Amino acid sequence: MSSIERYRIDHKGQYHAKDFDTGDTDGFSSREDAAAQMAKNLVRINELQQKLYADKKEGVIFLFQAMDAAGKDGTIRAVLSCLSPHGVTEDAFKAPSADELGHDFLWRIAQCVPEKGQIAIFNRSHYEDVLVGKVHKLYEKQPHAARIDPEKIIGQRYEDICNWEAYLYHNNVRMVKIFLHLGKEEQAKRFLSRIEDPEKNWKFSVADIEERAYWDDYQKAFSDAINATATKDCPWYVVPADHKWFMRYLVSQIIVDTLEEMNPQWPVLPESERAALEEYVPRLSAESGAKPAAE
Ligand code: ATP
Ligand code: MG
Repeated sequence: MSSIERYRIDHKGQYHAKDFDTGDTDGFSSREDAAAQMAKNLVRINELQQKLYADKKEGVIFLFQAMDAAGKDGTIRAVLSCLSPHGVTEDAFKAPSADELGHDFLWRIAQCVPEKGQIAIFNRSHYEDVLVGKVHKLYEKQPHAARIDPEKIIGQRYEDICNWEAYLYHNNVRMVKIFLHLGKEEQAKRFLSRIEDPEKNWKFSVADIEERAYWDDYQKAFSDAINATATKDCPWYVVPADHKWFMRYLVSQIIVDTLEEMNPQWPVLPESERAALEEYVPRLSAESGAKPAAE
């Protein structure tokens, strides 16, 4: 059994937030061991991405959600560094614009679904609408038809999300959902270091401190969302985020294991097309001055 299984939530109601240790490092005694495994994973991810791109049978979304300062951006950067730019996209979903708010909540997300052969990274996602949207009851402030019952909106969104993700799965796109789960004390330490270290001052945001006051509400919103939307085909992974080195290694492992399971193959040409290619060999060999390779 792969070590990522411990962190996988793939059926409804499976996640118990109170039992989760955000400082867990899964028995890794040193960051060097994790870094060595991560380096191997990045090489393998690169190989698998090339095959996925050539195979063009399936696309995949790796979606990241987290509390502020959990290290979403750094983790995405660490993983993206091994991918070929032509086969990957990254989309960051911030507070919706007026135009986006004029549409259904999945509208802006659906535009970023990758084509077959592509990897998409979602930095935040449609889950914001059942996280910040739930915590601050944003739906009450947005115009809606008289027939809509605000009490039911979040439950209906869970259902809509499950149906939409299943629809994508049936149409050759996988969704892997990753929650980088940071502890409350560790978040305070990271905010402090953003104040104390001049090079990190630019990352400091008063809005982040204000959101921290809603910590318990956010934890409940994460737990409810994960428990309502985890499925075998579109699982969640809850990743301990207090140790960045472990978090990054584990994310690389989730990506490797997902791509291995997708099992992309180099395309094989039909025999007739292969034979047609052979006809070009003498001409190209003459032009390059090389002899055709011996059979
Ligand atoms: P960083 O701070 O590292 O640049 P970030 O992802 O935190 O990255 P911010 O611009 O600080 O980016 O925050 C984005 C904000 O947009 C978050 O507060 C998030 O809750 C909010 N947001 C995203 N989607 C929605 C949504 N659908 N409705 C309301 N707010 C949203
Ligand atoms: Mg931010």
